[in-house]
Amino acid sequence: MSSSSPPRLPSPPPTATSDALEVQGLSVTYGRSLTALHDVSLHVPAGGVVTMLGSNGAGKTTLLRAVSGTLPLHSGTVSDGLVSFGGVRLTGRPAADVVAAGVVQVPEGRHVFAGLSVADNLRAGRLGVPGRGREVARRATAEVYDLFPVLAERREQAAGLLSGGEQQMLAIGRALMARPRILLLDEPSLGLAPLVVARIAEVIRHINALGTGILLVEQNAALALQLADHAYVLDVGRIRLQGPAEELSRSDEVRRLYLGERPESGGEPTLDDAEAAPVASLRRWSR
Ligand code: ATP
Repeated sequence: MSSSSPPRLPSPPPTATSDALEVQGLSVTYGRSLTALHDVSLHVPAGGVVTMLGSNGAGKTTLLRAVSGTLPLHSGTVSDGLVSFGGVRLTGRPAADVVAAGVVQVPEGRHVFAGLSVADNLRAGRLGVPGRGREVARRATAEVYDLFPVLAERREQAAGLLSGGEQQMLAIGRALMARPRILLLDEPSLGLAPLVVARIAEVIRHINALGTGILLVEQNAALALQLADHAYVLDVGRIRLQGPAEELSRSDEVRRLYLGERPESGGEPTLDDAEAAPVASLRRWSR
């Protein structure tokens, strides 16, 4: 990213106190046999920031797919439970209806359209969104460029030429084009250098300060716990822990398994230490 000044704030979107996301007793299967989520419940209050932590394969992405209605694209099915936003049931609704309800996902790995220009990638973010008038699109685009000046500078360039951090900005900007009431972020820090991760964190804070709720899936637990009000820990498809982010970041289990810290007493490695393996990769990413 070229600019070091903090992003400027676009005008706040309207927020409703009913903009809460509810997941109740959700179970998800892939194919005929693999149950990736078992009886998962979580709550994201209107305008809140909630994080879902967990190691590789815990089911974090599956949870976001179930919320965003994209599970069928991955041969997944909700076998039990429900998802609702602002009191409106989303379970079983097509992905376009979920976006129209104000729930927008930024997928892991960014997935920008590499051959299209930055401007066309942003335009794609409005496809299927209600209120497609030119003025709404123009305003949304101006707000994204205001938030990410680097995208404005490079609007005519192919998205594939952007750096990893800029592509992450574009993926977030594209999601903002749909004017979400809640943003589902899947590993936004993945593979990015520390300075870029810090900038992404700043952007997430700004977006939330404007009233947009955030459900953040991260393996970078240190980052996620700094950003979130409330955290859940997913372990092999089940919620293992939950609580205020500040409290969780002080819990021995989270410190040992997800923040890569050793118990103060030290001592011999235990069998449980084997579970801490993903933390090693986490530390590599955040270097
Ligand atoms: P990571 O951090 O590695 O992305 P995750 O916590 O997001 O992991 P998921 O990607 O949700 O975990 O995977 C949960 C489980 O579901 C894993 O066992 C995974 O192999 C399986 N899984 C995910 N997608 C599919 C799919 N399309 N078909 C079959 N199994 C899948």
